[in-house]
Amino acid sequence: MITIANEKNLDSQEIVGSGRRPDGTGRTDQVWDVVVVGAGPAGAVSAFLLAGMGFRTLVVERSPWPRPKPCGGCLSHAGVHLLERIGLSGVLEEVGAAATDRFVLEWQGRRASVPLAAGRAFGRRRFDEAVMKQAMAAGACFVTRARASLAAVDGDHRRVRLECDGATREVRASLVLACDGLHGRLMAGISNQARWINPNSWIGLGAAIPPGVVELEPGEIRMVCADRGYVGLVRIEEGAVDIAAALDPALIRERGSPYTAIQSCLDQSADRDLVHAVTAELGRSEPLRGTPALTWRCQRAWENRVLAVGDACGYVEPFTGEGMSWAILGAVAVARSARKILERGWSEQLGQDWDRRRGQGVVARRIGCGLISHALRYPNLAYGIVSGLARFPRLARSVTGRLHRPWRVNI
Ligand SMILES: Cc1cc2nc3c(=O)[nH]c(=O)nc-3n(C[C@H](O)[C@H](O)[C@H](O)COP(=O)(O)OP(=O)(O)OC[C@H]3O[C@@H](n4cnc5c(N)ncnc54)[C@H](O)[C@@H]3O)c2cc1C
Repeated sequence: MITIANEKNLDSQEIVGSGRRPDGTGRTDQVWDVVVVGAGPAGAVSAFLLAGMGFRTLVVERSPWPRPKPCGGCLSHAGVHLLERIGLSGVLEEVGAAATDRFVLEWQGRRASVPLAAGRAFGRRRFDEAVMKQAMAAGACFVTRARASLAAVDGDHRRVRLECDGATREVRASLVLACDGLHGRLMAGISNQARWINPNSWIGLGAAIPPGVVELEPGEIRMVCADRGYVGLVRIEEGAVDIAAALDPALIRERGSPYTAIQSCLDQSADRDLVHAVTAELGRSEPLRGTPALTWRCQRAWENRVLAVGDACGYVEPFTGEGMSWAILGAVAVARSARKILERGWSEQLGQDWDRRRGQGVVARRIGCGLISHALRYPNLAYGIVSGLARFPRLARSVTGRLHRPWRVNI
């Protein structure tokens, strides 16, 4: 557990970390090389890499820590490989991540099983906490329950306002990384850029089910599809089961609640024991948590002395562990851009460079996920896909092989 002192008044708020603190006082009124907003995979991995390069790094997280996050908790083979490359594979052992090796898709009682290259599954509360712990061990400082917003540029620094329980304080940074996720509004505070939100977007929901309640085969990522949503299930650490869904908001309104909407999707499964166990338990030990519209993109991922990374740059629905892998890949790429900026000084050209580089390695994979997500909106097409995958598993293996092929990255 990371113990974080966080008094009601920000004046006495302690920043926790093994940190190379600029003046050794550990207080928030500092000048930092980098302020990272958001401690999800994009933020924590960026902080781990930048603190490891010797930059004074502060991570600001608005939630009490560790926090839950609606997520399927599956990390693809490419993501596992990337964690190994950057020296973070130990966190998977630390959190007791379960192995995944196949994707089982169900639709109207039909089932297709697609082998996957080895991935992992875990609860996000533990995983994000473990990665953040590594960032702190590398030297990053961390403050929680503080909502960050961007203030003006002041000479060579961007000012960042931190708000906690009604108290406000400013810090200054040579560079800010906006890693504030799907809900993030950090860039919106200083820019007139329009966010493009797909009008047909579904919304995300997630919860964990404690060990011993739902029997799911080890290694399997199960996805039950219906005509206006799908529900994913996977075993995570200690035999608990993570449940994550993407649903048409109209279905939730029609069914009266997210619980009954999920139940209506699960009814497409032929595995009645599983359906009964999930519907009886869902929401009992942990409430369902939701997200805003899932599919969106931003026009550009930089402002003066600010770069956006991870879901804060845009989002398409992931299927088998792509979202976190993309966020981690973005963190690796932004650490290189940030180093250049911190060594040479900020220029618009370096911001534009980041805009060009941020999509490298993920554009084709995002398009692939976008197409699958689009196809799932059409019942006949979705039925055709499941039937096709069931009959031609080699075709399916080639699609998932492309989505999960490890990246060649220079660290
Ligand atoms: C239902 C669902 C299922 C999913 N399933 C999977 C899956 O199985 N596998 C997979 O790889 N991906 C999955 N994803 C996607 C994955 O969760 C995201 O892609 C991933 O979490 C992105 O990481 P991030 O660091 O960019 O953002 P996040 O993990 O969202 O982290 C952003 C952080 O920023 C903080 N924050 C926001 N604003 C501020 C502020 N102003 N000040 C301070 N802190 C702030 C938030 O509290 C949060 O902790 C799923 C997503 C959903 C919605």
